[in-house]
Amino acid sequence: MSPVIVCPSCDLAHRQDSIRTTERTQCARCRAWLQHPDGAALDSAIALALCALILLAFSNAYPLVTMQANGNSRDTTLIGAALGFYAQGYASLGALVFLTTVIAPLLQILALLFVLIPLWRGSRPRGQHTLLRVLMQVRVWSFMEVFMLGALVALVRLAKFAHIAPGIALWCCVLLMLCLSELTSITSPEQLWRWVERSRE
Ligand SMILES: [Zn+2]
Repeated sequence: MSPVIVCPSCDLAHRQDSIRTTERTQCARCRAWLQHPDGAALDSAIALALCALILLAFSNAYPLVTMQANGNSRDTTLIGAALGFYAQGYASLGALVFLTTVIAPLLQILALLFVLIPLWRGSRPRGQHTLLRVLMQVRVWSFMEVFMLGALVALVRLAKFAHIAPGIALWCCVLLMLCLSELTSITSPEQLWRWVERSRE
């Protein structure tokens, strides 16, 4: 039986022998991308992962928002938001915010870089299979977009009571969200295993 590629958007199965691995291929039904040309996408994936790493560092180093009310000014960072939940007695919520917005994206980016950079240089990374398994596990825990949506709703409501100024980190979070979603789309599990297979040839 020939292997199949399942569309990530609509679950339509395509026979792989009718698809050339060197081509960009779209789903026959919903036009979602099934695969990208190998060489270009590997370079793009590494560039996007490095970009995401820098954006993640900026997201945590600078204030997310600055709030001014009654002459007082306060700002908070991403980690500060998680610590704020912890300090108010919502320890599990604080841990969840920290896990889904800092730890999971960081592990996702680092695991990808540890796998992709050796593949790009033509060598086989150590512990490749373990890293790929870790990557698939942490990906489902990366919820940057959910956090951003919640934060934006909260900020719009708070704007009635205080002056809210978005910080550098908020813009970095928006860019990081876009960067991670593109990175996830071009490094699908099928694509990662194709690069690994190619490195063995
Ligand atoms: Zn489809």
